[in-house]
Amino acid sequence: MSTDVDLDGEQYEKHREAGEILQTVREEAVERIEVGASHLELVEHVESRIRELGAEPAFPMNVCVDEEAAHGTPSIDDDSTFGEEMINIDIGVHVDGWIADAAITVDLSGNDELVEASAEALDAAIEMVEPGIDTGVLGDVIGRTIEGYGYQPVVNLTGHGLGHYEQHTSPNIPNKKIPEGVELEVGDVVAIEPFATDGRGRVGEGNAEQIFALENDSSVRNRKAREALDQITEEFQTLPFATRWLDVDRPEMTLRRLKQRDIVHGYPILKEKKGSLVSQKEHTLIVTDDGCEVITR
Ligand code: MN
Ligand code: MN
Repeated sequence: MSTDVDLDGEQYEKHREAGEILQTVREEAVERIEVGASHLELVEHVESRIRELGAEPAFPMNVCVDEEAAHGTPSIDDDSTFGEEMINIDIGVHVDGWIADAAITVDLSGNDELVEASAEALDAAIEMVEPGIDTGVLGDVIGRTIEGYGYQPVVNLTGHGLGHYEQHTSPNIPNKKIPEGVELEVGDVVAIEPFATDGRGRVGEGNAEQIFALENDSSVRNRKAREALDQITEEFQTLPFATRWLDVDRPEMTLRRLKQRDIVHGYPILKEKKGSLVSQKEHTLIVTDDGCEVITR
């Protein structure tokens, strides 16, 4: 099949470079996760290694534990350490705005099967990706694979397209069957991310909020808020950033101010019901003429 999309073009090369760096730092992260290890040291290691290797984090490294599913990242003075828990890490890398996004679960809690459920669901979906595949069909195979293990897919979290400096674009890739999705096309760059749980299969918003993104760039009078906003527009643009990335002192207060004025929005932590566990696995892939190229494995 011929196509006008040049999969060797510069943007795809940058996606691939981001994907390779992501693989390296993910491996280093997994090696560091053990009972007693510090959350903050882990994310600082990974984020500084991404920069050392010539790229930038596309979003703060997420560390989610047990019932937490997404948007967790350490606060500025976080002293949390890992226990015998289920740990999801989610890493984003970009090269000039071209993003790779991938996640993995490291289980220290003795629940291998839950980890396997999301991993197998991801493999099954990747196996089916080709031009013309409907995203609803991918959701169906993900949902059925997880249910086959006796668990629930988390249905209000989805995979997504990746745009230039845009971490979430269309199409959504659901984690269950939907009546009508959209057809993937050659050259689409998408992240597929099944979540499996022994909980409800639906996450809600918690109170903690450590990740933010620019909503609209309007002027602020307060000096510290203005300094922070300059850093945000220059360094992060519209990509998500962490409280601990801001150079101003007492960044929490500054962020509250920017949020009140709708200049930034927060991403509250997303969790399953208390006492349940969530596993996640995610890869980024490029849809090719005859299937797909996974850039994060
Ligand atoms: Mn991710
Ligand atoms: Mn993602």
